[in-house]
Amino acid sequence: MIMLTVLVTGGSGLVGKAIERKVQGGRFLEMGIQFVFLSSKEADLRNITETRQIFEQYNPTYVIHLAARVGGLYKNLVSKVEMLSENLSINQNVLQCCHEFGVTRCVNVSSTCAFPNEIANYPLKEEDMHSGPPHPSNEGYAYAKRVSEVLMRAYNEQYGHRYVTVIPTNVYGPHDNFDIEDAHVVPGLIHKCYKAKLQGTNLTICGSGKPLRQFIFSDDLAELLLWTLLQYTGSDSLILAPDRVDEVMISDLACLIAQSMKFDEDRLIFDASQSDGQLRKTASNERLRKNLPGFTFTPLKLGIDATVKWFLENYESCRR
Ligand code: NDP
Repeated sequence: MIMLTVLVTGGSGLVGKAIERKVQGGRFLEMGIQFVFLSSKEADLRNITETRQIFEQYNPTYVIHLAARVGGLYKNLVSKVEMLSENLSINQNVLQCCHEFGVTRCVNVSSTCAFPNEIANYPLKEEDMHSGPPHPSNEGYAYAKRVSEVLMRAYNEQYGHRYVTVIPTNVYGPHDNFDIEDAHVVPGLIHKCYKAKLQGTNLTICGSGKPLRQFIFSDDLAELLLWTLLQYTGSDSLILAPDRVDEVMISDLACLIAQSMKFDEDRLIFDASQSDGQLRKTASNERLRKNLPGFTFTPLKLGIDATVKWFLENYESCRR
């Protein structure tokens, strides 16, 4: 049987590991599809020579492009140069090699963080991506994501490819980065809660707890990325987010984490003197729902319980 190869860049991270879990068990091998998961150790994708070498080695038919320099608020603020220039290089090299090596389908992963900071009418839709500047705190990362979508569209228009950009909302799950300085909100709160419980202290959370956010469990995102690669035939960008009813306040998220960690909820302190960041960035999954109406998202409580369980079991070895 002829094997088709799916090259997953950024295959060692939060989302890559979730895809790896999904494809274990042979259902894709039976379809003649094999997966290769790359980390930066195999190739530094900032470098075009190393990127070409890895494409030559695997000659992929499909690519899921996850590799990126990713970080929370602090990293975005203090490393704007790297967040912009390294992500630009990675995206440009990967898309160029997809084109040069005749990749027939590339799923390019952007982020709802790249959306404008404010728009007149929520929810955000795919076509709002370029309608205003991103939040100043993460403009390096955001503009690199925006440019990757523009470049990908240019490849499609000029060379007739059918590559597609997806725009996931906040992702969480096993294998996340739990480093408090660097982490996104879910892994950051889980680790802070772990420490507060160990030390018998209150858990102070920056801001009022009132901002609204949408979260997608990494296993759900993995399933949606595989569907986008193999079943969605369009090239129009897709927001990958749960339904709007699943949007939660940060305070509710903190309570769920506290419950899961068996931490006294009365010890959660919201420090409203600190910045709340964006109050909302509600994104619409209407286009996804039109194409895939029956998809069931993992309820936040179940996803948080699974993530906390993984964190506790892998505390010694996880990124923290
Ligand atoms: P992680 O930080 O968990 O993983 C990043 C991956 O990129 C790792 O495999 C890392 O390899 C690889 N990588 C980083 N720099 C390079 C490089 N120079 N060359 C080759 N590989 C590199 O990220 P996530 O899994 O969270 O994110 C995956 C994608 O999803 C990213 O594009 C991100 O922007 C996007 N996204 C993430 C969201 C989130 O909340 N996490 C939300 C929306 C979108 P190594 O392990 O060797 O360092």
